[in-house]
This record gives sequence, C-alpha cells and structure tokens, in this order.
Amino acid sequence: MNDCIFCKIIAGEIPSSQVYRDERVTAFRDIQPAAPTHLLIVPNKHLDSVNQMTAEDAPLLGHLFFVAKQLAAQEGLAESGYRLIVNTGAGAGQTVFHLHLHLLGGKPMSHLVG
Ligand code: 5GP
Ligand code: ZN
Repeated sequence: MNDCIFCKIIAGEIPSSQVYRDERVTAFRDIQPAAPTHLLIVPNKHLDSVNQMTAEDAPLLGHLFFVAKQLAAQEGLAESGYRLIVNTGAGAGQTVFHLHLHLLGGKPMSHLVG
C-alpha cells in the first residue's frame, strides 16, 4: 500500500512516537490526541478496515486487543478505565484506511460518543 500513512509509519518512513512493536503489531501515539492517553494500535499487515478482514485475520485482531490491554496497564489506565474504538468506514468517522484500534484514557468519558 504505497500511499498509506500508517504503512509508512510502520516502515519507519514517517516518524511517530512509537510505544510498542512486535512482528504483528505496532503502536504509537495519536498525532492529535483526544485524551491524555491516545494510542493507535495497528496491524503491521495492511487491511483497509474491519470490512476487509477474513477468518484468517481473527487471531491478529485478537492480538491487537491483547496488546491494547497491556499498553493500558503500562499507561496506568487498568483501574481508571479506558476506551477502545475501531471506526469502520467514513460514515463512522474513519479517516485513515489502515485498520487501527484507538486506546483512549486519562479523563472521564461519557457513556457514548457520536
Ligand atoms: P480514524 O479517524 O481513521 O479512526 O483515526 C485516524 C487517527 O489517526 C486520527 O485520530 C488522527 O489524529 C491519527 N493520525 C492521522 N495521521 C497521523 C500521523 O501521521 N501520525 C499519527 N501519529 N497519527 C495520525
Ligand atoms: Zn497501510
């Protein structure tokens, strides 16, 4: 995916504030944080969105959540709480079409957004 900004971040072609990396997943701080902690957890493999996932990708997406749980603890959010969001499609507010999990925390949040 030549034109994908998250593929470029994963490849190290665009700088980011990286907090985690393994063979399947990269996590970095959102450039426009919506909360004191705002991380993006991203599969290293390009998928446009959840719409593009296949059964084969299910363990990868499970791993995304497991990494999110570990990073939430690392950020001190395990007890206070945090929100995990996956926007899917423009109508849901997706602006970067490389599947990603938002991890938000560090401030009180209302029950629902949008
Ligand atoms: P979406 O709206 O697609 O769910 O979320 C995309 C997120 O990516 C937004 O919160 C936006 O601030 C973030 N973002 C867009 N471009 C960059 C970038 O170049 N670097 C980083 N770290 N975050 C980005
Ligand atoms: Zn990509």
